[in-house]
Amino acid sequence: MFDKIAELSKAVHPDITAQRRDFHKYAESGWLEMRTSSIIARRLTDLGCFEVLTGPDVCEADARMGLPDDDVLEAHYKIAEEQGGDPEFLPRTKGGFTGVIGILRCGEGPTVALRFDIDALGVIESQDMSHYPAKEGFASVNYGMMHACGHDGHACTGLGVAMVLAQIKDSLHGTVKLIFQPAEEGVRGAKSIVAKGHLDDVDYVIGNHIGAPQGIYADTDFIPGSGGNMATTKLDVYYHGASSHASGAPHLGKNALQAAAAAIMNLYAIPRHGQGESRINVGTIHAGTGRNVIADIAKMEMEVRGKTTEIKDYMEDCARKVIKACAEMYGCTYEIKVMGGAQTAESDPEMMERVKRVITEHMPEYRVHDYVPQPGGGSEDYTYMMRKVQEHGGKATFFRSLCPCAGPGHSRTYDFDEAVLERAVRVFASVVYDIMK
Ligand SMILES: [Zn+2]
Repeated sequence: MFDKIAELSKAVHPDITAQRRDFHKYAESGWLEMRTSSIIARRLTDLGCFEVLTGPDVCEADARMGLPDDDVLEAHYKIAEEQGGDPEFLPRTKGGFTGVIGILRCGEGPTVALRFDIDALGVIESQDMSHYPAKEGFASVNYGMMHACGHDGHACTGLGVAMVLAQIKDSLHGTVKLIFQPAEEGVRGAKSIVAKGHLDDVDYVIGNHIGAPQGIYADTDFIPGSGGNMATTKLDVYYHGASSHASGAPHLGKNALQAAAAAIMNLYAIPRHGQGESRINVGTIHAGTGRNVIADIAKMEMEVRGKTTEIKDYMEDCARKVIKACAEMYGCTYEIKVMGGAQTAESDPEMMERVKRVITEHMPEYRVHDYVPQPGGGSEDYTYMMRKVQEHGGKATFFRSLCPCAGPGHSRTYDFDEAVLERAVRVFASVVYDIMK
């Protein structure tokens, strides 16, 4: 059967590569993956054996973080329509209800969830002919949205796995849930899928990220697990003051810009936590309306991170105090909106062992490493799914599929070697079979 999975993975590769280029060209960022979701739902439905959840059945409405404004959602819906969204499933995504879950029921046995993120980033893609997607004519046509982190590849890995599993379903025992998650960038989407209860009955959850090899790793290697992600909260902060003439009546103004400036200086001055690493960053500030006007509005986009959820909470509590105190100092009011969040989570040793064993025994042409914890680093909201499954005794891992990449992740020139899609499909499908055979 493992040889058959290898053959099937090879057979689906041209199809999912073409689909990847299509998703890349029509890149859609978090909660706007309307066309993308409609096509995923269409393709899963056409396989004939999947129960397909779409629209409000995927994400808990109120737990969606960092949702764009209504006018942005509406404007993009029209674009998704024009760009060939599937007419049956596109209406389900209205209002930012993106994401799809495909469920394959194969009788008694464990429930295995696989997670694939599907969103693009707010990046303006390079149109230079040295950039492969531009040269081949599949660079993003949606200005300011680009698949610069490989999630177009993840979405199509999920479709490839669905096609392979559909063909071996009679040899599987249990239930498979393929979770196509929206809004991973900015860590906004996973929590709402967990809140909807989709992970409550899951015994095993597996995620994956493609990426460039570093250090000891070579081009086509696998790393069976990960950990060391930082917990994070993303906050938008608004100060509201009162405008006034800067010379004639400055005493009647309430300076929101000044409150924000004072907050920024003091946010970076929060004492570090003795138990581990923390981070804080104010990434943007927009304030004021004119040179000679006391600024009545300021907005900051900021984030805190911590090596543990507790350290992140400490940073967030301190930040909230600073923001509040600076509002009072300048007679302003303030508002804080939570735009995203992620927890820390570690892959389970026995899941990593299983991934490693399956690759070693059945894919000798691939190299798989022991997991080595990475210092510091980014955040990933799949950790909500891992934690949920681990809390009720289930097992989780997040493996890495390495491949040559052009440009750093999240840059205008990012691209990945599409050959990784076949390898990732094969590993996912083989591990699922190993659990459910
Ligand atoms: Zn990513």
